[in-house]
Amino acid sequence: MSTASQPGTPTPGQLTFVAPRRAKPARHLADLTMAERRAAVAELGEKPFRADQLSRHYFERLTADPSLMTDLPAAARDRFAALFPTLLTPVRELTTDGGTTRKTLWRLFDGALVESVLMRYPDRATMCVSSQAGCGMNCPFCATGQAGLTRNMSTAEIVEQVVAGARTLAAGEVPGGPGRVSNVVFMGMGEPLANYRAVVGAVRRLVEPAPGGLGISARGVTVSTVGLVPAIGKLADEGLPVTLALSLHAPDDELRDTLVPINTRWKVGEVLDAAWDYAARTKRRVSIEYALIKDVNDQEWRADLLGKLVRNKLVHVNLIPLNPTPGSKWTASRPEDERAFVRRLQFHGVPVTVRDTRGREIDGACGQLAAAE
Ligand code: SAH
Repeated sequence: MSTASQPGTPTPGQLTFVAPRRAKPARHLADLTMAERRAAVAELGEKPFRADQLSRHYFERLTADPSLMTDLPAAARDRFAALFPTLLTPVRELTTDGGTTRKTLWRLFDGALVESVLMRYPDRATMCVSSQAGCGMNCPFCATGQAGLTRNMSTAEIVEQVVAGARTLAAGEVPGGPGRVSNVVFMGMGEPLANYRAVVGAVRRLVEPAPGGLGISARGVTVSTVGLVPAIGKLADEGLPVTLALSLHAPDDELRDTLVPINTRWKVGEVLDAAWDYAARTKRRVSIEYALIKDVNDQEWRADLLGKLVRNKLVHVNLIPLNPTPGSKWTASRPEDERAFVRRLQFHGVPVTVRDTRGREIDGACGQLAAAE
C-alpha cells in the first residue's frame, strides 16, 4: 500500500481550496444514485432490479459482504463484490463517557488517515464525520487546520463512516441497547463545502429512504462551514433542508481575519447574509458556532456586537469552550466570562447554548481531530 504524503504545514493565513491531485478511491455502491446503481449492475451483466436488493443489504442490513447476500444467485455475488471495495480500514478506536463516545481512526486506500466520532445521548445518536483528509482552511485554533489538506474524500468514504457507526449501534456495542444513527454532523476533519459534490452526494445517500439510502431525517443532518459564500448559496438550491452551521468565532472582521482566514475573502457581513438567505430558503434555523477563547474573542463588547448582528434572525448560537490543541497558546474562557457572554446574547433575545463538548479525553472533541497513528 502506498502512503499518502503529508502536505506541508501551511503558513499563517494560507488557504488551500483545491485538493492535490491523487488517485481516486474505487467506485462503491454508496457513490451511486439508484439509477446509476441499476446501470452499474447491468454493466456487470445482471438484471437492474438486483440494484434494489444490493441497496437493501447495504443501507438496511448494513451488509457489504456479497457472500452473505443469499437471496442473490451465487455466481452474481462474486461479481457484485466489485461494488463494495474496502474504503475504510479501522486503525484504532478510543472510547470515553462509559463507551457512549467513540472515536475511530481510519486508514483510506492510499494511506490517508481520517477520524470519525460516534456520540450517543439518551435521546439521539450523532455521527460526526470527516469530509476531507486534513483541511485547507488553516484556522489557527484547530488541530486539523494546522496539518494542511491531504485530499478530498469520496461520497462513499463519507457514507461509510456513518454506516460503520450504524453497524456499531445496531450490534448493541454502545451502552443503551441496539440503536440507530439519528444525527450526522459534518464537523469532523475537513471543510465540507470545499468538497462540495462529494458532500452533497453523501447527504443525499444519508437522507434518501431505504433502499436508496439510510433514511436519516434531513433535520438531523448538519453541514458546518467556515463560510464559503457561493457554496452556501448552492447548498440552499439543492432542496435538502439540512441544518447549516456557520463557524463564526468573531463578530468583527479584524479578529475574524486572523481566527478564520477565509474571512479575508468573504467578510462577516457577507457570510451572515448568506446564512440568512439559507435560513429563508430552507426554513431551517442556522447555527452560529463560536469557540470561546480566553481573552481573544470572549469580551462582553464582542458578545454585544454578535447579539446585534444576529438578533431577530432564524438563528441559534452555539458557544463551544475552546478545546486544547497541541502547540496552541490559547485556552477556554474563564467561567465568569463565558457566563457574561451568554447573558449578553440573552439580553438581545438570541437563543444560545453552551455545547457540552464530548470526547476531550480522547482528542475527539471539536477541533482536536488530527488523525495521527
Ligand atoms: N470546517 C468546518 C467543519 C469543521 S466543524 C467548520 O469549520 O465549520 C468543527 C467545529 O469545531 C467548527 O465550528 C470549528 O470552528 C470548531 N473548532 C475548531 N477547533 C476548535 C477548538 N480547538 N475548540 C473548539 N472548537 C473548535
